[in-house]
Amino acid sequence: MNIDEIVEKWSVLDTEDLLRDIFQQFGIKAAIGTSFQKTGLVAIDIASKIADNFRVFTIDTERLFPETYQYIRQIEELYSDKLHNNKIEVYKPDSRIIEAMVKQHGEYLFFDSPDKRELCCKNRKVLPNSEALKTMDVWITGLRADQSAYRGKLKKIQVLPADGKQIIKVAPLFYWTETDIDAYIEKRNLPIHPLYSEGYKTIGCIICTTPVRLGENDRAGRWRWEKQLKNLPKECGLHYQNGAGI
Ligand code: SF4
Repeated sequence: MNIDEIVEKWSVLDTEDLLRDIFQQFGIKAAIGTSFQKTGLVAIDIASKIADNFRVFTIDTERLFPETYQYIRQIEELYSDKLHNNKIEVYKPDSRIIEAMVKQHGEYLFFDSPDKRELCCKNRKVLPNSEALKTMDVWITGLRADQSAYRGKLKKIQVLPADGKQIIKVAPLFYWTETDIDAYIEKRNLPIHPLYSEGYKTIGCIICTTPVRLGENDRAGRWRWEKQLKNLPKECGLHYQNGAGI
């Protein structure tokens, strides 16, 4: 089956059948990438019901909330018997690149301009993510259409160039609403990231992520200071093609 045929087949499968087929066809050449938000948790939980050995990876920007580091360990323990090598894989930035960036632009460069914020996201998130993608053919994400206007225009399945090959990027919960996600979590009694109870709707780096107010979309809590600077999608580059990688 070629990539076009796979995409055609997957595009009509529901979430569980889609994840089942991904892991049956690609095994550990597929992986769930997550920053431990609720959608990622649901994807991991569904995977744990249909696969005995699946990969989960995350990007540690080295600027995450202390609660996130604790939560990663908690989820790793919860699903360890199903996780490949019993672990959540953690990819970190290249220390030489970070040192050079901080030396040239300072530790808090992201406040200076959208371009410098994108540079920080590129070095701390996109490049480590690109390293992770080298190890897989299918990248499973927790993207959902209802998270922002920008994300609503993305696709459930995309084929992207990555390091000289093609990678299939799949968002198996793309059409789930926040209500669907919450209902699943309640039904399965899953432990969510502790910052949700403090008003956060997304979980990112500690300085760049803030709680979300009533009526705001999920991504509104990111880089709030940028609103006046440039009308950018609230994206770090992982899901936004802006010269910073995938
Ligand atoms: S979210 Fe902020 S600290 Fe984290 S990588 Fe992006 S700009 Fe840097």
